[in-house]
Amino acid sequence: YKITAAEFVISAVRPEQLPEDALPEIALAGRSNVGKSSLINKMIQRKALARTSSQPGKTQQLNYYRINEQLYFVDFPGYGYAKVSKVQREKWGQIIEAYIRDRKQLKLLLLIIDIRHPPTKDDCLMYEWLKHHGIPVCIVATKSDKIPRGKWDKHVKMVKETLQAESTDPVVLFSSETGNGREDLWDVIRRVSAK
Ligand code: GDP
Repeated sequence: YKITAAEFVISAVRPEQLPEDALPEIALAGRSNVGKSSLINKMIQRKALARTSSQPGKTQQLNYYRINEQLYFVDFPGYGYAKVSKVQREKWGQIIEAYIRDRKQLKLLLLIIDIRHPPTKDDCLMYEWLKHHGIPVCIVATKSDKIPRGKWDKHVKMVKETLQAESTDPVVLFSSETGNGREDLWDVIRRVSAK
């Protein structure tokens, strides 16, 4: 998939700031430090367009990137950041849940999981929200370069079992280091955004 244009659009903190041009939106969620910004940068072949999302205080923004004038990546704030207060965490939940519930342009959510570790409680909660609201999910097991190829299957199985994922959910093995899975992930994204 050739990237001809990729630009940062806005860090939205209020619903009225969300873009109005109705392009399909592909959201990305995962715990902080899971590798979300690296994945975005790899997908769009830019070194550092997506800044690291794990800073505290940025916990309530939806970061919009417009790709090829065709779709948006919507980067959710990373969850599970230890120093975030309970009030901030609740606020985070409200913003994200409202987006998931109301945003018609949302076509797919990429749930980013570190392939080395079982999904966290927050990952499982996110997965349940998505299913509750009927949002298509693609599970992305990233940092695949960190474990030997022979162990990929076993780890993917562990990820799916912990999430209690449906067998129809696509799963993509990914590495921002090697580019593994980049084309597979674009295939999944293209399939849903063409609908
Ligand atoms: P974010 O907080 O989810 O946006 O995470 P970042 O993209 O900032 O990545 C967190 C750390 O993991 C950084 O040190 C990255 O270099 C590293 N990282 C991210 N993706 C990969 C990957 O696929 N493979 C390896 N080996 N390291 C990665």
